[in-house]
Amino acid sequence: MEFHFFDCHTHSEFSSCAEDVTLSGYAEIARTTNTRFAVTDHSAQIFYPPDNRWGFWSDEAVELFEASRDGGRQRVEHWLRTLREAQTGGMLVGTELDVLPDGRRVFPDEMLETLDVVLGAVHSMPTLRDERPVAEIHDEFRFQVEALAGHGIEVLVHPYRLLLAAEVPVPEGLVRWTVEAARELGFALEINSHKQYPEHDVLMARMALEEGVPLAIGTDTHRSSEFGDFSYHERVLGEVLPDGDWARHLWEPTVEVREAAAG
Ligand SMILES: [Zn+2]
Ligand SMILES: [Zn+2]
Repeated sequence: MEFHFFDCHTHSEFSSCAEDVTLSGYAEIARTTNTRFAVTDHSAQIFYPPDNRWGFWSDEAVELFEASRDGGRQRVEHWLRTLREAQTGGMLVGTELDVLPDGRRVFPDEMLETLDVVLGAVHSMPTLRDERPVAEIHDEFRFQVEALAGHGIEVLVHPYRLLLAAEVPVPEGLVRWTVEAARELGFALEINSHKQYPEHDVLMARMALEEGVPLAIGTDTHRSSEFGDFSYHERVLGEVLPDGDWARHLWEPTVEVREAAAG
């Protein structure tokens, strides 16, 4: 039997690194199928000015953030209005939240709580750019994860991508730390298929199951061919849960609960 995953993580044209995916395309899928997914654009790329969408990833991230506060708020408001207008069916609206090196979130203060889904990512680390010793890079990683948790993220996405892509070691102890942080601070951990690190994903998934931490399923779609392809997630889940009893371990959005609470 085919398993119907909730895809917590996709990008639209509001994310600069997205390729052929569009909000109208997602809306069409949501209108014509029963697919459930969240559109979660990068908060920094919505917030930072159009002529400097990658400013968050530079050494000027903080200065640019300070200088673009008003414009950033307007851009986030426009993005959110546009997504809400397009929203239909099983489509939810969220963001992939970025934090500055000092831990502040790149999103207007009171608007984050209005989203259906809040993901968090470690996307930019000065210690990595400066090629600092591994212990300092790990410290900064833990600092950013805790900062994201403090902002109320529901899912930590592609936890080790930045480190592994830079060939920084991710030892079992750091995976253990992440899983315990997830349990204590209350967020799920994503299995992400956009860039695949099976060894670490299997280890993380195994520990998450032991600790009762939910696993979130994300395609992190940047191009349309990635959307709806859960073969990687099935492979990882198949290794850690060979009996196929996946549903009760997977993270689900709580948007209906929130709406009920608001009403
Ligand atoms: Zn990301
Ligand atoms: Zn993403």
